[in-house]
Amino acid sequence: MTDEAVTAWIGLGSNLDDPRAHVQRALERLARHPQLESAGRSGLYLSPPMGPQDQPEYVNAVMGVRTTLSPDALLVLLQAEEAAHERRRGRRWGPRTLDLDLLLYGDRRIRQPSLVVPHPGMHERSFVLYPLAEVAPDARVPGRGEVRALLAACPADGLRRIQEDGTAVAVSNE
Ligand code: ADP
Ligand code: MG
Repeated sequence: MTDEAVTAWIGLGSNLDDPRAHVQRALERLARHPQLESAGRSGLYLSPPMGPQDQPEYVNAVMGVRTTLSPDALLVLLQAEEAAHERRRGRRWGPRTLDLDLLLYGDRRIRQPSLVVPHPGMHERSFVLYPLAEVAPDARVPGRGEVRALLAACPADGLRRIQEDGTAVAVSNE
């Protein structure tokens, strides 16, 4: 491969059928993928659902990858991984076995019908910023600033971090 590798950040979420297992399995499969080199991953977090409230809590994490894949090719790979978890598309922000969002692709800004990067809303979502700040506080969200600064301005909103022993502890940016 002759193209320069970039670091991309992926947001993972699940709130159906053993969400922790879905997120863990996706993290492991992406780390093993021949076209991705792992560049760090956060712990697992629990977050209240966005949108419709009649659905279970989410398990979230973020993962960094070094890749020479184009943004479009990376999105296709992520969608294939969602499909491998039998993701069915339902109502907007409805429950899902696995959601993989391309949060950041190097310092690129992309606006296509099928791909918007940075991922819209990521700069103000606690379930993205807290896990991202755990592994990449220096990362920059193009047009928005440094992750650590965005975190400082973002309330935790009920976010909890899952500890080694499986218990969940509230997080805060104070
Ligand atoms: P959401 O993640 O907003 O809950 P979906 O995962 O169902 O919703 O949205 C999937 C659609 O979002 C896909 O068809 C994809 O083309 C589009 N999309 C646009 N930008 C991105 C991105 N940065 N990462 C993932 N999907 C994206
Ligand atoms: Mg998505």
